[in-house]
Amino acid sequence: MTHIAVLGSTNMDLVAYVEKAPQRGETVTGREFRTIPGGKGANQAIAAARAGATVSMIGAVGNDPYGTQLRSTLEHSGVDTDHLRTVEGPSGTAHIVVDDEGGNAIVVIPAANGTVDHLAPGDEGLIASADALLLQLEIPLKAVVAGAEAARAHGVRTILTPAPAQPLPPELLAVTDLLLPNEYEATTLTGLSDPIAAARALLDQVPAVVVTLGAAGSLYVARDGADPLAVPAPPVTAVDSTGAGDTFAGTLAVALSEERPIREALHWAAAAAALSVQRPGASASMPYRSEIEKQHN
Ligand code: ATP
Repeated sequence: MTHIAVLGSTNMDLVAYVEKAPQRGETVTGREFRTIPGGKGANQAIAAARAGATVSMIGAVGNDPYGTQLRSTLEHSGVDTDHLRTVEGPSGTAHIVVDDEGGNAIVVIPAANGTVDHLAPGDEGLIASADALLLQLEIPLKAVVAGAEAARAHGVRTILTPAPAQPLPPELLAVTDLLLPNEYEATTLTGLSDPIAAARALLDQVPAVVVTLGAAGSLYVARDGADPLAVPAPPVTAVDSTGAGDTFAGTLAVALSEERPIREALHWAAAAAALSVQRPGASASMPYRSEIEKQHN
């Protein structure tokens, strides 16, 4: 079985659904409130586990009830949480207001995620034993760099989702094997609005890039000189695209670790992401391996 390590965030999403978001100083009565386990790290871990890999999560939750819930959500999807530390204080939270037009406003409090600024004893050994390391940018950059450097030192493939969008230090790009931005992040990183041009520009810094393009699919370019590869997304009726990018990342990591050729791996990830957008929720909507195989064939 392939082994994927994930170094990243776990958050509890606290979502208020309202007709219209309040202005400064205003109080409005909302319609509904939900707590939804999330965080890009945890979401990618769950996607990879459901896609059939052994998955280990490296990160931190607080010693509050959310921390207990976040840990058990991961464990229920089969993610190993031995390297998910419990630290004094609150877990990471995202405070989200969703209005009736589908617009949202979000405040993220990193809390426990902010303590993940280094690798703990044992983390490097775990990374060394993995086939791939999935990384995002919702924990301190110092740890992301340390994790990617540890992976590179042990010949482990590194896949970086550069979200939330921000400038990336050269030392991180130097140890990134595959950069996986969405269209917005690719533009932010390069200043180029054309995804092919942005992806090509990023090849100056990393050997391979996949830009995800929402319902338009994804685009792969690599330094090996091959033509860019555009992979369409299956046409589906989307009800909630939250977590589509994380589903894509987690399943792509599994497919590449199973040594599937890049075209097949991208189709497989697209099949998984298409399944996830047809159901509500982020990690709750992520498909299991048997469903992905069925959609893919
Ligand atoms: P999110 O922030 O919603 O998790 P993202 O912005 O990181 O997503 P996207 O590029 O929107 O990432 O989507 C990732 C992948 O999910 C796409 O490449 C595509 O394969 C799939 N996808 C997204 N939206 C749709 C859709 N409406 N129909 C089919 N597939 C979709």
